Amino acid sequence: MSDGQHSYYEFWKETVSRIRQTLPEQEYHTWFNRLSYLRSEKGKVVVGGASQFILDTVITRYRELLVNTLSELTGEELVVQFEVASRDELEQQSGPGKEAKEASVPKSEAKQAISAQKSAKIRAESNLNSSYEFSSFVIGDNSAFAYNASLAIAKNPGSSYNPCLIYGGVGLGKTHLLSSIGNHILENTPELKVMYVTAEMFTNEFIESIGSQRTQHFKNKFRKVDVLLIDDIHFLQGKDSTQEELFHTFNNLYDAKKQMVFTCDRPISELKNITDRLSSRFERGLNVDLQPPNYETRMAILKKKLSQKSASMSEEILNYIATNVVTNVRDLESSLTKLVAYSELLDQEVSFEKAKELLGVLPALAANASQTLSIDTIIKVVGQYFNISSFEIKGKKKNKSIVQPRQIAMYLARDITDFSTTEIGTEFGGRDHTTVMHSYDRVESMMKADEAFTNTVLKLKRDLTTIKS
Ligand code: ADP
Ligand code: MG
Repeated sequence: MSDGQHSYYEFWKETVSRIRQTLPEQEYHTWFNRLSYLRSEKGKVVVGGASQFILDTVITRYRELLVNTLSELTGEELVVQFEVASRDELEQQSGPGKEAKEASVPKSEAKQAISAQKSAKIRAESNLNSSYEFSSFVIGDNSAFAYNASLAIAKNPGSSYNPCLIYGGVGLGKTHLLSSIGNHILENTPELKVMYVTAEMFTNEFIESIGSQRTQHFKNKFRKVDVLLIDDIHFLQGKDSTQEELFHTFNNLYDAKKQMVFTCDRPISELKNITDRLSSRFERGLNVDLQPPNYETRMAILKKKLSQKSASMSEEILNYIATNVVTNVRDLESSLTKLVAYSELLDQEVSFEKAKELLGVLPALAANASQTLSIDTIIKVVGQYFNISSFEIKGKKKNKSIVQPRQIAMYLARDITDFSTTEIGTEFGGRDHTTVMHSYDRVESMMKADEAFTNTVLKLKRDLTTIKS
């Protein structure tokens, strides 16, 4: 591919592998095996097909999908041009066709030189879990930046973002992205030595090497890699000599322009008992965060996971999970797994009622529930309970029968949504945020004093958090 700087080949590959996940296997093979990436230039990808008939069908059915996916991945508005290509051209080029993924990889000499056996060994030594791939990662607003940075690193290790730190809470995809970087490099640049370790593995190996007087061996092992991926560096807090060792490893690799990527469960500034010189190293390159996915992304993730499991589930159930499991992707996945397993075991579809029963009281129902719940809904539900109108709750009347429901509604709005006190105040007839804070404190202290009152508030909270968006 002699298309210089504007090679969108990697993006093309990624696009096709995504489309593959969404299409029935047969359909994918019918059309995409007969297509091939030919070349690209700025803003344009040229795709070849074996005949005009194939191209016509592909254009009608998939053009839009191809263009949208490519544009989304590259962040550029791309044009896709289609050409009839000879069999030679198609075979020479690195189209997505052929059977497996391997066939779509350009036949560089480096690759051919490495036998299957050798590559299996390299894979084993890398410690990577091969099941994590970019193509199975669902991108949302919460993760787009981290995803794009990871993909850029995978395509050009050591050159752009070095080091890189991906941080975010548990179950948000840190290990998934970190491993995807490694797997992508192993597959596309097998001459590079990739090593994945958790900070815990790093620590244990270091301690062992001291015990067996093989610290030099340990040092060499980590300093001769081209790509070092260390997961969960928060584990290093308070482990001074391991930190010291990592500091030296870091400097060595950094000077040699070797790629390093780390993950952490919080921003570096929030780590405790990490030496300043090490934390300044972590912060040196690009720091990107992963946030919990929003409702739409949660739905997309559920659907993706379902298709990977070749299972099906009603929209109603998916919506129920996506509305209630707001914590992280791991929880989302395990809720789904539970239902799919049940359905497979009994060989029957899960009903909505059964699903709710199986999932039990979801953690989100108790805590910090749906962001999609509007303040108006809260006002309405509380009003219905106390038999007063939304209008009265938002209004100025000060009789006790209205003030108390108003305060409870403000309390609930603050407790179960992510709206700020200012936003809540505005929705409550343009009140000041200090009024909201005052109401919140007032309800809280009444709950401490009065059990019946507490039960009322909790009942309302339960009702509200089971409302679907
Ligand atoms: P972390 O390392 O941040 O705790 P993981 O990478 O282990 O989280 O992710 C937990 C689970 O959720 C994994 O099975 C992973 O594949 C899945 N996962 C996380 N984020 C996504 C995403 N954006 N798209 C698809 N699956 C995801
Ligand atoms: Mg992890």
